[in-house]
Amino acid sequence: MNSQKDIFEHLWFPFTCSSDIKNYPPIIIKKGSGVYLYDKKGNRYLDAIGSWWVSILGHNHPKIKRAIKKQLDKLEHIIMAGFISEPALKLSHLLFDMLPKGITRIFYSDNGSTAVEVALKIALKYWYLKKESRTLFVSLGGAYHGDTLGATSVGSIEDFHIIYHKNFKSFLHTDPPYCYRCPCNLQKETCNAECMESLEKILQQKHHQIAACIFEPILQGACGMRIYPPKVLKRIFAACKKYNIITIADEVATGFGRTGKLFACMHADVVPDIMCLAKGLSGGFLPFAATCVKEHIYNEFCGTFIDGKQLEHGHSFTGNPLGASAACEALSLIKKQNIPYSLSPKMKYFCDRLNEFGNINYIGDIRSIGFVGALEIVKNIKTKEPFPKEDRVCFKISQEAIKNGVLIRPLGNVIYFVPPFIIKEKEIDFMFDIVKKAIKKILKT
Ligand code: PMP
Repeated sequence: MNSQKDIFEHLWFPFTCSSDIKNYPPIIIKKGSGVYLYDKKGNRYLDAIGSWWVSILGHNHPKIKRAIKKQLDKLEHIIMAGFISEPALKLSHLLFDMLPKGITRIFYSDNGSTAVEVALKIALKYWYLKKESRTLFVSLGGAYHGDTLGATSVGSIEDFHIIYHKNFKSFLHTDPPYCYRCPCNLQKETCNAECMESLEKILQQKHHQIAACIFEPILQGACGMRIYPPKVLKRIFAACKKYNIITIADEVATGFGRTGKLFACMHADVVPDIMCLAKGLSGGFLPFAATCVKEHIYNEFCGTFIDGKQLEHGHSFTGNPLGASAACEALSLIKKQNIPYSLSPKMKYFCDRLNEFGNINYIGDIRSIGFVGALEIVKNIKTKEPFPKEDRVCFKISQEAIKNGVLIRPLGNVIYFVPPFIIKEKEIDFMFDIVKKAIKKILKT
């Protein structure tokens, strides 16, 4: 079993069907530098999706690398119960400097899904401790919050989540705040976030049973980089306030500047009760996550051993010193470089160039915010009819782009761009030019 082909027979790749492993064997990447990745043969790929949205400061960043190496010479890991490493301590100071006012406690874990699991468990136990029987969660139509079971239960993407929902009775979904295909047939420029009437109805009927409302603020990533206006977020917060529902903002993908604000909640000037962070937190170098909460939530958990109020949760690698040292350096760079505000001219350039895709047939919707850009490809622009799933139009476009040096990976009928923030204007040009050519070639337009 020495050849690469043989070992692929034994590997199980995420979100990948087995026939694709055979027909499009995974490319072995040897090194990375900035926005680029290099394979064994020396082929170069511009990482237009920041390797699943984690790489915000670029690959192989010398300063983050140095920080990890320095820590590696001292300590690789330490249990975070009764002990804490120096980098985890330092990180907590740095993070507090950035977090919105009112958020006062940080719980570390390993990845976005665990950050969400922790948030859900905190909400459940909070109500248990308050002696209220609230065990339901509400999430938005189109939600994605990770792949562990709790996170899956609050997800609502048909292909990813629905088959697992039979295992749960604890979730409710609102209408999707999907402006291109508005569930209320309204225009985002003039609507009053009527899609959230569905949330209000759920809360009105079941608020006594609802533990929390969880949402991806402003940008719903995995369902196709859908961007909804701040007024939707404001309406979510107003409804939750009215019925005393805990708000959980999943900023795993949006945190640390991706949408043009440090946190996406800032677009609507709202501060959630619980905020989940991961991905860019470590600069995209190592698995590291944080669930950050307001003090009134933490207060319920305060007590002695006998009270049994502590949170029964802790992953082996919680607060890992290597991850924490990467995160310390990443946050220092973000602060020093005044990210994301210093990026606004480049974000505008990115958005302007993205809009040029409007000249191409089959582009039904162009959406962008900060350093997120998406193209929804449709068979019929007038009716918004999508291409049949089996045509795999966007998959073919992405394969063509990869062949020509740009790593993209579609979400259904959506091609999207989430590049590292360090991308230069000429690299934005290259990225879009290659994808434009790929679209024209595959759709023969
Ligand atoms: N929440 C959101 C909003 C995400 O986009 C993701 C990952 N794409 C997750 C949670 C899960 O993060 P992870 O893959 O690190 O578990």
